[in-house]
Amino acid sequence: MNSGPRFRDALQEIPGYRAGKRPDPRTDGVEAFKVSSNENPYPPLPQVVKVIEQAAHHVNRYPDPGSAELIEAIAAHAGVPREHVAVATGAVALCYQFAQSTAGPGDEVVFAWRSFEAYPIVTSVAGAQPVAVPLLADGRHDMAALAAAVTDRTRLVFICSPNNPTGTVVTQDELDEFMAAVPNDVMVVLDEAYIEFCRDPSAAAGLVTYTKHQNLAVLRTFSKAYGLAGLRVGYAIAQPPVIEALNKTALPFGVSVIAQAAAAASLADDAELRARVDALVAERTRVMQGLRAAGVEVVPSEANFVWLPLGEQTEEFANRSEQAGLTVRAFAGEGVRVTIAETAANDRFIGLASDFSR
Ligand SMILES: *Cc1c(COP(=O)(O)O)cnc(C)c1O
Repeated sequence: MNSGPRFRDALQEIPGYRAGKRPDPRTDGVEAFKVSSNENPYPPLPQVVKVIEQAAHHVNRYPDPGSAELIEAIAAHAGVPREHVAVATGAVALCYQFAQSTAGPGDEVVFAWRSFEAYPIVTSVAGAQPVAVPLLADGRHDMAALAAAVTDRTRLVFICSPNNPTGTVVTQDELDEFMAAVPNDVMVVLDEAYIEFCRDPSAAAGLVTYTKHQNLAVLRTFSKAYGLAGLRVGYAIAQPPVIEALNKTALPFGVSVIAQAAAAASLADDAELRARVDALVAERTRVMQGLRAAGVEVVPSEANFVWLPLGEQTEEFANRSEQAGLTVRAFAGEGVRVTIAETAANDRFIGLASDFSR
């Protein structure tokens, strides 16, 4: 009797990816906010929407497989040579490509935990062994422990700064020390998905640091600060051999005609986007001050979200928030991550957290 297809054993290790929950439709007139996926609350800029509409007329054709115009725009924006840039359908796709191009059965992939949920998944899909190194008590990466976790089996390390979900950064000194300690045949990916929101001058600067290391790549995305999460575009910046490996493991024609055009357009004039990021950073400051004034324990954040280490109270807070029309991201037994969003959503969050801590 056939019991259906047999899947690789590695798939049993993989937790199903839990996307941010959609708020339930409400019948009581309360406006519901989804603050569980770190999306940008601002709609796309009018000029970007116009480019999307124009690109729509060309979707009978395959996209440029080399994403030449987009790569040119990213290179100019980042101030790097175009041979140092790879694009993909979101930074998540690049995480898969990093794992597939460096690690397989018998190899290890090291990352801090808790951090971005994709890291253990892409590791297992590649057939490699995830090595999760606990965060420090203050939510920061334990860089010494990460360096100590690197063995001769380690092929890849993910470092997330600012870290999802705690919002903490790795400092430049910590990164420099780490890179000096790790053998240079181990690929190190510095995931800077939230770097545009970072205002800490001591934070590691990936674009400065990668030029000194053959084995350091910087990961960025258009999904958060640039507000194009629905289009799926991310990029990596690294030395040419790394970019070549990423291109070999890329999904052919992955980044769509529309996504290539819109992402390039959003770089063309990003003053307005930077103003929006500044406004979100100001809201983050206001939220943190409001929480602290009410005695709520919150980890200082350099991202577009904040982390409340609520421990055993996590689910209760998440349920109460849901009832009040605020869908947060809960990690049972650990804490909740709440996106800095519309002012009304942020106000509601401050109120809920303040009431909860009383
Ligand atoms: C959101 C996020 C990404 C990537 O998002 P894409 O939408 O796939 O570009 C990468 N890393 C971290 C830490 C994230 O939070």
